[in-house]
Amino acid sequence: MKRIIIMLTTAALLCGLLSGCGEKTAKVEKVKSSDSLIVRKIEGIPEDFIMGMDVSSVLAEEASGVKYCGYDGKEQDIFLTLAQSGINYIRVRVWNDPFDEKGNGFGGGNCTIDTAVEIGKRATQYGMKLLVDFHYSDFWADPGKQMVPRAWAGMDIDAKADAAYKYTKESLEKLKAAKVSVGMVQVGNETTGGLAGETDWKNICALMNAGSKAVREVFPEALVALHFANPEKEGSYYTIGRRLDYYMVDYDVFASSYYPFWHGTLENLANVLTQVADEYGKKVMVMETSYAFTPEDTDFSGNTIGEGSNVIKNYPYTVQGQANSVIDVIDTIVNKTKSGIGVVYWEGAWITVGTESWEKNHEIWEKYGSGWASSYASVYDPDDAGKYYGGSAVDNQAMFDVSGHPLESLKLWQLVRTGNDAPVKADAVEDSLLTFDINAPVVLPDKVNAVMTDGTRQSIPVTWNVTQSDLDKMNAPQAAKYDVYGEAGGMRAYAQISKIKYNYVKNHSFEDGDENWVITDLAKADQIYVESKVTDSLTGEKHLHFWSAAKNSVEFTAEQNVGKIPAGRYSFSMSIMGGDGGAQDIYAYVKADGEIIAKAPMKITWYDSWDTGTIESFEVSDGQDISVGIYVKCAGEGGGAWGKIDDAILNSAD
Ligand code: CA
Repeated sequence: MKRIIIMLTTAALLCGLLSGCGEKTAKVEKVKSSDSLIVRKIEGIPEDFIMGMDVSSVLAEEASGVKYCGYDGKEQDIFLTLAQSGINYIRVRVWNDPFDEKGNGFGGGNCTIDTAVEIGKRATQYGMKLLVDFHYSDFWADPGKQMVPRAWAGMDIDAKADAAYKYTKESLEKLKAAKVSVGMVQVGNETTGGLAGETDWKNICALMNAGSKAVREVFPEALVALHFANPEKEGSYYTIGRRLDYYMVDYDVFASSYYPFWHGTLENLANVLTQVADEYGKKVMVMETSYAFTPEDTDFSGNTIGEGSNVIKNYPYTVQGQANSVIDVIDTIVNKTKSGIGVVYWEGAWITVGTESWEKNHEIWEKYGSGWASSYASVYDPDDAGKYYGGSAVDNQAMFDVSGHPLESLKLWQLVRTGNDAPVKADAVEDSLLTFDINAPVVLPDKVNAVMTDGTRQSIPVTWNVTQSDLDKMNAPQAAKYDVYGEAGGMRAYAQISKIKYNYVKNHSFEDGDENWVITDLAKADQIYVESKVTDSLTGEKHLHFWSAAKNSVEFTAEQNVGKIPAGRYSFSMSIMGGDGGAQDIYAYVKADGEIIAKAPMKITWYDSWDTGTIESFEVSDGQDISVGIYVKCAGEGGGAWGKIDDAILNSAD
């Protein structure tokens, strides 16, 4: 108790000495552990490393009736909870004028500089710094959209730069007057291909310098950041860095968005940022990242990612998966990137405003601007926001649950500094997709692949819920699909069983060239090779082509060893077309232990007249080594024998 009193006294003294020091900073007790979240300790995190959270929508959320809780389950100022979780920077976007003529908000939090002042005051109260994100637009700015603010429309670049300078300066002075602790100011948002309606880099840079000048004048201690997206585009950041250098843009931080489902690998991110840091001597950081803790949508407005998303799931959509995704980003910026200064999470508190219905939520979104866009946005952005307005697209990427309780993943920002142990268990179970020949017995695996909470992958035991009669049904010799469910590591396991007429021939249509095939040329033909020509193929794009001018120069086999296959009756076929064969001996064949056991004759006649040689039924017994193939011998006539061979099929006989 005594120690706390001393600390407060010291803080009060410092406040008295330092100019610009805000109101008394509340004491914040940082989280120390988690019972369920595994956090690996990241070595070498600087004390002042930026652990940022963008909560631009939070005031609109609160106005909409959303309540946030602390870790004790009781309602608590979300900014205190964030500070307790190790967050030291709060980011907020600022739009020039996100309202229509009647004062109806466009949504997305209706964020203006006044929003930033309110959020900034609350952040400062708990010792966090503010990161101001000027979009220089009346609504969302991103790589695909950099619309000019309505008040600046029609201005030439000099007038627009002047307007940007004045607007930035006046805005920042409001923050200064409110004693907000501003740590960084972003001049433009995801300005990869434009800014405030300008797409020429000379003009973009002029606007950036205008904003930067205002930042230097009002907050000389603050960092000036520029923010770009699409690090995965080869050479893009290097080129942007060169342009900024050429036009002498005054900035400190080259920042990138990094959404793991869009923006390539972390290794690439580290490389492209390090290149900029090296070449142009800038600090670098991740300005936006996020990941889903659940595939479920909770606000009746579709999400960016979720169930069925076409994304590479390096991390499961779980609380631990979300945390692991962010921990890897932090590790990359701290330890694998030169001059990396921070990571900011995007909109970690944008949860649903209600759970009843879309209609109810829609009313609230329209009134308070707590959805990504309201219908009023149509006056500014008729083709996108004006059509597709709605709620939160990232409620499943928040670090708060549907009822405003912080997820354990929120603790990662503090716990990466110390590490946190928890029992390792399965976090997600991979689906098993199994294909069987119609005559082969269905064998369910006794293990399935799982992603563990520590991020590793393991095979874990599975129990399938199948009865003998289910198995009997699946073993009936017919083509069909079956769904089988079970349990593994306390989670649902799923197997899809496909019973098909399985073709034991690999690369059966020559689509992978001559892979798996052995071509034996017995008479030195001019040409035998896999040709890519759709019109000459029976199926697919490729086939085996032959031609040879001289008489009796066509004699070859194309054979594939399929090894040991289950005992039973099989059929085999191959197809050919061609011409000028003259006297010919062509047949599909099957070999068992090196001896031909069955043949089916074929003929070449004229172009596009395919002939299929089919061995209807032959017996394979246990342990026999099976090969299949085609033998072609032509005397040739005219310009020489030629032909096209395709589609070898070996499957169970009917
Ligand atoms: Ca949603």
